[in-house]
Amino acid sequence: MVDNKQLQAQLEALRENFIAKLPERLAALEAGLETWRASGDEAALSEFHRIAHSLTGAGATFGCELLSTAARALERQLVGVDSARDFAALEALLEAVRRAVDEAKREDYVKPEPVVALPLVKHEARVVYILEEEAAERAGLARQLEHFGYTAQVFATPLALKDAVAVQRPAAMIAEITLTAGGLAGIEVVRTINAELEAPIPAIFVSSHGDFEARLEAMRAGGRAYFTKPLSIEALVDMVDELTSVEQKQPYHVLIVDDSPVQAEFYAKVLEQAGMATDVVCDSMEVSDALRDTAPELVLMDMYMPYCSGVELAAVIRQQPAYLGLPIVFLSAETDRHAQLEALRLGGDDFLTKPIQPAELVASVGVRAERYRLLRSRMSQDSLTGLLNHRRLMESLDKEMARVQRHGGALAFVMLDIDHFKQVNDSYGHAVGDRVIMSLARLLKQRLRNTDIIGRYGGEEFAVILPECPLPTATQLMDEIRQHFAGLEHCAGERRFNVTLSGGIAACPAFTEVGELRAAADRMLYRAKHSGRNRILAYTP
Ligand code: GH3
Ligand code: MG
Ligand code: MG
Repeated sequence: MVDNKQLQAQLEALRENFIAKLPERLAALEAGLETWRASGDEAALSEFHRIAHSLTGAGATFGCELLSTAARALERQLVGVDSARDFAALEALLEAVRRAVDEAKREDYVKPEPVVALPLVKHEARVVYILEEEAAERAGLARQLEHFGYTAQVFATPLALKDAVAVQRPAAMIAEITLTAGGLAGIEVVRTINAELEAPIPAIFVSSHGDFEARLEAMRAGGRAYFTKPLSIEALVDMVDELTSVEQKQPYHVLIVDDSPVQAEFYAKVLEQAGMATDVVCDSMEVSDALRDTAPELVLMDMYMPYCSGVELAAVIRQQPAYLGLPIVFLSAETDRHAQLEALRLGGDDFLTKPIQPAELVASVGVRAERYRLLRSRMSQDSLTGLLNHRRLMESLDKEMARVQRHGGALAFVMLDIDHFKQVNDSYGHAVGDRVIMSLARLLKQRLRNTDIIGRYGGEEFAVILPECPLPTATQLMDEIRQHFAGLEHCAGERRFNVTLSGGIAACPAFTEVGELRAAADRMLYRAKHSGRNRILAYTP
């Protein structure tokens, strides 16, 4: 994942750029001192201080230690009010900064240690091979798997399965054990296929017998599950899901707040190379909007910025309940332990000191973002389906609506309700009903994009937010899902049954207000129910 050579080249280029611009920065520093000497006012002093501080930080970031040290000495001189007015001392310190700027080009740049990639799960093809002699059974099984987004290929003989594996490796195999070849032929073929592979293909065995010998042999051949017929499709698909585990982890999203664009870019490069997504804000005034628009999982915060310090900014962020748990990590050249503790007291989660090794930065940020993600998902998920709960879904809708109002674009909102669900419960029991609800949740997760937002609205009602999806596309998509759901075969013991759903859709730009959008989708759902169910109706203005 991490191409350390490329990362180093990029960091090197940033450093060269920084060094090339040093004379400009030095001139700004000199001018800053002159302005303050002439005016003597607070604002000029703090501007001068800021320029000095950014040299301390950037110098450290880009491996110019002499420069960073000289700039820090200058900063220190500015802290005491009396010493600050000692212009002779300041001139001397400024002279040291000038010398350090000259030296910077010659300073040896210590190459950063290699960055280790975060473990991100790779997206695998969702191809499943089925070995089954009985034609109707294999076709039925393949159809059910395809409803859940798998590509199923069926084979009637062990030889055909073997040949197919040689051509393309599937994500999983499902094999009937008892074949006309006799004995436990299904287990035998899986054993020989996997014996030749470095990483065995996950296998699921099915059989009408569940005797101990067959189960033992299946396990020894690397079988991960064993199902007896009649098959419970839901349980089988759950197992295929688990074995293929294709759920791709989204990259961690980090918001970098730093008034120095070059430094922000440096840290963004490091984090991006490790597979994270970053947004950069250089103006503290823009942080609120950025938090809302980019929904970061961690804020990497500079300490000193004009107008408002990082510590103040962290305290303001913390005052908003939505961001109470959001990790805020300070990254600063500040080495004063007291100032660091104060920053943590006011809402920071950690304090990283510049210069920081890229590998250390990636590790610190990754660990905190991961924990935050876990925490959030625990708090915002519906326990039966793992989808967003009602409250979280509505928060997302507010956010998406606000985005559309600001930047334009499309947004579709869908409400779904399972038809005659009460009858499912009444006929087959509550547990079977739960499984039907879960199967719809799974279908939605598999059929929709990663950027779509799916929630359980309540009971047997679901809602879906489709950002950037115009009404006709949303309608077609949801109608496909409706058809797939109707095609799913549910089982209750020996009994098989199908269930349908109805849905209503409304979309932006026809609506500009969340309440109206929801009411329109709800109205269309009501109409779908009353015009016969098993249909999706869209609100067209
Ligand atoms: P309609 O086609 O009009 O939507 O009919 P319906 O029977 O689906 O609608 P109704 O709203 O009358 O009934 C919904 C039923 O869903 C009632 C409730 O007991 C059941 N239900 C709600 N939540 C759950 C759940 O989590 N699990 C199970 N098994 N049943 C649930
Ligand atoms: Mg209902
Ligand atoms: Mg219903």
